[in-house]
Amino acid sequence: MQADRGRRYRPLTLLLAGVMFLLVLIQTSYFSRQQALAELQQRAEADLARYALSVQQKLDRYKDLPRLLATHSSLHEALTTRDPDRIQRTNEYLQQVNETIGAADIYLMNASGTTRAASNWYKSSSFVGLNFSFRPYFQQARAGRAGRYFALGTTSRQRGYYFSWPVMDEAQVIGVVVVKIDLHDIEQDWNDPLQDLAVTDEDGIIVISTRPEWKFHALEALAPADLKRVVDSMRYLDRPLSSLQLMRSEILNEQARLITLQEGGVSERSVRQQYLQLQRPVPETGLRVLVMARLQPVSDAVLQASILAGCACLAALLLVLFIQARWRIVRERREYVQQLQGARDALETRVAERTADLSRTNARLLDEMAQHRSTQNELIQTAKLAVLGQLAAGINHELNQPLTAIRNYADNAAAFLRLGKAPRAEVNLQEIAGLTERMAKIIHPLKEFSRQSSGQPVPTSLKEVCDGAMSIMYGRLDQQGVQLEWPEQLEQVFVLGDTLRLEQVLVNLLSNALQAMENSPRKCIEVSLTQSDGWVQLSLHDTGPGIATDDLQRVFEPFYTTKEQGHGLGLGLSISHRIMDNLGGRLTAANHSEGGAVFTLSLPVPRSVQGPPEQRVCQSGAHDV
Ligand code: ADP
Repeated sequence: MQADRGRRYRPLTLLLAGVMFLLVLIQTSYFSRQQALAELQQRAEADLARYALSVQQKLDRYKDLPRLLATHSSLHEALTTRDPDRIQRTNEYLQQVNETIGAADIYLMNASGTTRAASNWYKSSSFVGLNFSFRPYFQQARAGRAGRYFALGTTSRQRGYYFSWPVMDEAQVIGVVVVKIDLHDIEQDWNDPLQDLAVTDEDGIIVISTRPEWKFHALEALAPADLKRVVDSMRYLDRPLSSLQLMRSEILNEQARLITLQEGGVSERSVRQQYLQLQRPVPETGLRVLVMARLQPVSDAVLQASILAGCACLAALLLVLFIQARWRIVRERREYVQQLQGARDALETRVAERTADLSRTNARLLDEMAQHRSTQNELIQTAKLAVLGQLAAGINHELNQPLTAIRNYADNAAAFLRLGKAPRAEVNLQEIAGLTERMAKIIHPLKEFSRQSSGQPVPTSLKEVCDGAMSIMYGRLDQQGVQLEWPEQLEQVFVLGDTLRLEQVLVNLLSNALQAMENSPRKCIEVSLTQSDGWVQLSLHDTGPGIATDDLQRVFEPFYTTKEQGHGLGLGLSISHRIMDNLGGRLTAANHSEGGAVFTLSLPVPRSVQGPPEQRVCQSGAHDV
């Protein structure tokens, strides 16, 4: 659920982060631009002061020269005489002064503006004879003032600055002396790739500039009347004096403004260029020096600051995301540990429940097993009693003879006592005692047989087992004239078992064989013994009818019997089978190829005992008890 909320808020968070990012960028670019502009302005102002000073110094060197020359006598003479020698002397004087001070030209005009003498008198482009009365500097000086003027030379077509001064004769202006300075290479030393320089005249026409294409263009368009005036003065000869393409102007403060110029005319290569423009007048000249600083450093600084701010924002964002991710991992890990703990607790509860269940089931099973064992013991006992019942007839027969004998001996003893023949009576009584002893011996195995045993397998003598079984069965075997063949040297054979239980099994098998052979012409039970791989096999082969093939396994089922009611319970073999299982052995049934049934007992040999190889013997049903 928390994850869902997180997912829902993520776009909002991103939007907020984006807005913050933009705000930071805008702020950064604004402040960095302001700062960069201020720095640029500071630098440009310093340059502007330097350039303005250099212009002023260049002009100041010459500004007082016309005034000085105006007082010279040779200039007076040249204006007042028609003597060519004197005029020539004035020419040479002006030439000498001109060469000494390094001006462009120095010339002297009369009151009507015609040049009387000039430093360039010897050149083909000599001013001598030319009239410059249309020039404002002449008119200013003619009016008795100092004249100052910037213009293109009419003959040299070079940019020049003119200083003029009236030549007075008493209170009358008789002529004008002019010193012209060549300014055509003034911008040569101004070299800054990021700054352009310009000098404008009183009308705003650029006369000096590091950008050649700007020269003789107005920064802002002139009014038609002003344009006509300038053209008429032939100040800039035939230059068109068109204005630069000023697209935008934004005043920053008193000295500075931002301007945008469309450069490159109307061609495809035209670009808009932004400048920081600063200007300063050159005193007493009517000129203004302009510094046009390109905004490249400003945009570089803005870009740099924006990139830095962007990186900082990105780093901050990454840090926030990292912290968020860490926090989420920690939270998820905590949830996972809680889930794990929950699962472990649930598992422990289930294990505890299951253990309790198992303990209950185990106790129940133990109960059932105990019950089962007691039932099994009862069944075995029942089966024994059933066998005993069958044996009862035989025992009856066995006991009848001694009983008859005892009766006879007792009668005889009584008769002898009546006759006073005590010694004879004693002999008879001794016979009776002997007979009772014999009867006790007859009954003893049956008593033993009916006893219960522990059923735990222990090393057991097979001979003892056979003897025990024979002590019970010999009467019946003898009665029915059955031949029984036992293997020899049985006393050497030991198995893991229980004497009483094995006796019970053997009695069962012999008893079944007896019953099966009731109608057989030949009544013989062959007992064979084999030993292999730590096992002893004792097989009983009778000469009865054998067992139907389909019933070979069924004979071990409880209550399976083919005998008439009252003659069999159908428990003998099933109990015998169970007894063998419990002792760790096996009981199997088969039919012999020569006829008759074969029941085989398999029992493990105790580790310490080795038995002899297969032996067989056939002996009479009579057996010593
Ligand atoms: P019961 O003797 O009371 O019938 P058993 O479990 O001892 O019960 O024997 C089951 C059946 O196995 C007998 O009814 C008989 O049909 C068959 N059987 C047992 N031993 C032999 C044998 N030696 N020969 C033929 N059939 C036998």
